[in-house]
Amino acid sequence: MDKVRTVCPFCCLGCGLQLLVDEGKVVGVEYLKEAPNEGALCSRGNTCFELVQHPDRIATPLIRAGEAFREASWDEVLRLLSQKLLEMRSKYGSRSIGVVASARMSNEDCYLTQKFAREVLGTPNIDNPARLTHAATLSLLIRGLGYPWATCTLDFVESSDLVFIVGANPFDVNPVLARRILRARDSGATVVVVDPRRTKTTWKSDIHLQVKPGRDYELLLSMLNVIATSKMAREEAWKVEGFEEAVKLSEGFAPEKVAEVTGVEARLIREAALRLALSKRPVVIYSHGVTQQPKALSALKALLALSAAVGVFSNGGLIPLSDQNNVQGSCDVGCLADFGPGYAPVEGGLTLAEMIEAVARGDIKALMVVGFDLVASMPDRKFVEEALRNLEMLAVIDLFHTETTKLAHVVLPACSWAEYDGTYTNVEGRVQRAFKAVEPVGRAKPVWMIISDLAKYMGSSGFNYSGWFDVFRELTERVSQYSDLTVDGVSKVGGQVVKKGGGLKISLEGLEPRTWEETQRGYLLIAGRGLHHLGTGELTRRLSFASREVPEPYIEICRDDAAKMGLVEGDVVEVKGPKGDLKVRVKIVPKGMSGVVFMPIHFPTCNPLSIMKYEIFEGVRAPLPKHSVVELSKAVG
Ligand code: SF4
Repeated sequence: MDKVRTVCPFCCLGCGLQLLVDEGKVVGVEYLKEAPNEGALCSRGNTCFELVQHPDRIATPLIRAGEAFREASWDEVLRLLSQKLLEMRSKYGSRSIGVVASARMSNEDCYLTQKFAREVLGTPNIDNPARLTHAATLSLLIRGLGYPWATCTLDFVESSDLVFIVGANPFDVNPVLARRILRARDSGATVVVVDPRRTKTTWKSDIHLQVKPGRDYELLLSMLNVIATSKMAREEAWKVEGFEEAVKLSEGFAPEKVAEVTGVEARLIREAALRLALSKRPVVIYSHGVTQQPKALSALKALLALSAAVGVFSNGGLIPLSDQNNVQGSCDVGCLADFGPGYAPVEGGLTLAEMIEAVARGDIKALMVVGFDLVASMPDRKFVEEALRNLEMLAVIDLFHTETTKLAHVVLPACSWAEYDGTYTNVEGRVQRAFKAVEPVGRAKPVWMIISDLAKYMGSSGFNYSGWFDVFRELTERVSQYSDLTVDGVSKVGGQVVKKGGGLKISLEGLEPRTWEETQRGYLLIAGRGLHHLGTGELTRRLSFASREVPEPYIEICRDDAAKMGLVEGDVVEVKGPKGDLKVRVKIVPKGMSGVVFMPIHFPTCNPLSIMKYEIFEGVRAPLPKHSVVELSKAVG
């Protein structure tokens, strides 16, 4: 049996492991103790090998034939696609084409995707799914720090004396990080969690600030107020642009004033703030709970002001968690509408959400989507599907059929990460090589190879690569932060961590001087991530453990609300949102917040995003579909 070193293809932690290969098949995994994750894997990492030879894999190029697809050769599909793209470009101009890059394919795949969009198609319309989940992080951290990665390594968490988790649930979503948090706690660290829900993470906390959904902004400014009025803000914080104004603004957010609007007792806000201020090595971990709420920019600015006040940027660390394995790399190598490789500013193209609006208007005629289930990931599914039906060409490159391939004109089969060499960048900025373990399924190819072939069919030069390492070398020349990376370096266990420099230049300007009106009627639905699955579930629903443990969608409702509605566990409720209805089975949670319900986004036939409004927010140029007001009723029959 051969052992081949690789990186987990799921979340942003990039855990190292070995694939066990027997007679050309991946048959299991083995732990890799020397890797930064010390061999630890969660249920997804343990079962990741099941994706490689999964019977659902797309094994051959497909061309639409009426309602179905017919199999085609690579030559036929590339000829058809290249001709259509050339036709669109000459008929409507290059801006009539959009490209959505993947956040789970390799750096080389992503680098060539943006190169193809910009240099071959000539379109600035290139973006990646990070825009939907982390637009506020991209907007603030790229300009503020020069990069949107963690400012510390993951092992730093273990030596922290205070872990402050806001809008994230690492015990369910990033379990290997949870292990580090527990170790810190065992050594005496305090764990403070801000979350409207009771989750595995909040159970392990010392202080749970059970904030009302969307009220993080007021809560975080209130904590800043406590620290500033206690004269405990770090000296260096006052040098951060806008910090003084943030402190001044926080005067209107004293704990007693915001207790009602946030739902958190003033006493608890004070205690959490003072513990944070007294910390010598604070770590702040945040995720979609902050970055996908309608006030994401303000909430993140408040979090950054608070972080500056307690020394996170000098003695601690900031970790923005995302749920796909190469969100970081895809952004680093230039798959963003406003930044090219290495975050070099570029003439603005349309963001992912803006592209869909342009498709709906008929301004974009052809769309290429790489490794991303766009239909399942966006709010207002009907609007997105109708928009995509307008396209003259929808080309999807992926491993499995998704809700998006159902509308595609052509589908190009991509290799799984185990079938080719490539590098992936985790949340720390750690670039690691995943080695090829087995031959591709059927006629699947690595994305970088598909893109190179397509460029050649379109008559372009500059895409002659003899292997992945050629692409890798080119990207290290174009991505300034990657300039020290070498093939040997990224091939070592643990890879290489990219260089980070510069100080904190975050602008805190634009913080809202007021609190928002209460507009809620009915229930507030939170869309999020649950245990074992990831993202919209196109990969994890195919894992045996995840599909056995969490086989179907559910809605979490607290015991009191369930009693009021006469619901028992397993009943079905109808959920009416602004853009549609869903029927889903009830899961009763003992200590949830009254008026607040939760649904995971992992099941495409019952995805809470699908019934939410498609509204693009200024500043982040993305929809922020974390919450929506819904009506609930017990389903009859
Ligand atoms: S924590 Fe993330 S990277 Fe690690 S094994 Fe689990 S899914 Fe993979």
